[in-house]
Amino acid sequence: TGLVVAMDGPSGSGKSSVSRGVARALGLRYLDTGAMYRAMTWWMLRQGVDLADPAAIAARCGEPGIVSGTDPDAPAIHVDGVDVAGPIREAEVTGGVSVVAAVPEVRALLVALQREIIGTGDIVVEGRDIGTVVWPDATVKIYLTASAEARARRRSAELAGSTVEAQQQAMARRDTLDSTRKTDPLSMADGAVELDTTALNLEEVIAEVLRLVAE
Ligand code: C5P
Repeated sequence: TGLVVAMDGPSGSGKSSVSRGVARALGLRYLDTGAMYRAMTWWMLRQGVDLADPAAIAARCGEPGIVSGTDPDAPAIHVDGVDVAGPIREAEVTGGVSVVAAVPEVRALLVALQREIIGTGDIVVEGRDIGTVVWPDATVKIYLTASAEARARRRSAELAGSTVEAQQQAMARRDTLDSTRKTDPLSMADGAVELDTTALNLEEVIAEVLRLVAE
């Protein structure tokens, strides 16, 4: 298969900007697996499924048709033909996604979809379990980190109207759920390179990843 760059790490570590920048620089496709978990969560909320009931989530997760684009210049995500790129970034989805993503049936389904998209490679894939579960044979595995404060600052710069403290709390809660769930928790893959982005700007991180890919 072609080149596969696995980009994992906690929320706010800069995965999306870095992944898109690397894909652009190398002419690769780009897959945002978090957007797929968010799309599933958006659909559950819209259907009125009780997110506190994992059995209900498991029973219905096969219903929505989730289609993800792979263009780094125009990330696209549709559910049953509806463009949900905007709604999946809203607070209600962000607040519920880690609970939905912890349901094993949801993960099995979305991981299978992701593997189909990755297919023959030439793609940068960002998520939490790409190097550990989705594509352990990735050409390069990156684990992006940053201090909790830096991550919260980046997120609140994106989302006007919320304080750094509020962001930091919501993010800490999500990261705790993501790294303590029973099925495929966030963790560093064997052979992954850890890249701490706290003191680096976007261009510097992209340059470092490009250097690792070229090795
Ligand atoms: O990357 P993003 O913050 O959009 O991901 C949203 C949520 O989706 C994460 O907090 C996590 O619960 C879930 N997720 C996951 N596995 C992935 C990608 C995202 O469980 N590969």
